[in-house]
Amino acid sequence: MPVIETKSLFKIYKDQTSEVHAVHDVNISIEKGEFTAIVGPSGSGKTTLLNLIGGLDFPTSGNLFVDGQDISQLKPKQMIDFRLHNIGFVFQSFNLIPVLSAKENVAFVMELQGRKKKEREERAQELLEAVGLGNRANSRPSKLSGGQQQRVAVARALASKPKFILADEPTANLDSKSAEKLLDMMEKLNEKENITFVFSTHDPRIMTKAKRIITLEDGRIISDVMK
Ligand code: ADP
Ligand code: MG
Repeated sequence: MPVIETKSLFKIYKDQTSEVHAVHDVNISIEKGEFTAIVGPSGSGKTTLLNLIGGLDFPTSGNLFVDGQDISQLKPKQMIDFRLHNIGFVFQSFNLIPVLSAKENVAFVMELQGRKKKEREERAQELLEAVGLGNRANSRPSKLSGGQQQRVAVARALASKPKFILADEPTANLDSKSAEKLLDMMEKLNEKENITFVFSTHDPRIMTKAKRIITLEDGRIISDVMK
């Protein structure tokens, strides 16, 4: 069973004069352990599609299945809970909480999940070590480089033991060296721990690291290539 499946997903924005099909009839099926990139020019619908898959936004029509469960039917409150326990997010702008240390940022989502303090602290430390930042656990985001902040964000996304991680242009605000390092780290997590990643990018160097490339244009899938 695919971990993510969309059936004829549409997201249409309307105003008095025009209609934008941000996502148009998207059917995709993603298996556990994939390392998939969603690519396409600015405005092609990458963010909208990832937000739909992650339950951050609701489709105009169509269905989304996660591990076979139709989550398009969930009410907004149920969706919040579903996201917390099933989906990890990495955003373009890192979105770490500035007043918390790296370790507290990673532990925070486990606190929301109601995990015990000892487990939270141990796992947060382990995850920071996994992303190469074990020695920066007590640093606040402002003391870390962009690349380091994004690695904390990946550790945070992993903390809840999600079914998959969605990353919307995670390297857009990084220099090319940090971008490559972040992708190498994600690739390693994918290969060693079988973590499923779906990320968007329009950076060709990042694209080539993906094992499957889904290309969008005007909200439609125009190609879907597995390496
Ligand atoms: P990408 O992430 O590939 O740059 P987006 O998903 O952000 O693309 O946008 C896809 C299309 O949907 C664009 O034409 C954009 O202007 C439009 N769009 C996105 N969000 C909204 C919104 N909230 N209201 C109206 N149009 C939107
Ligand atoms: Mg975008």
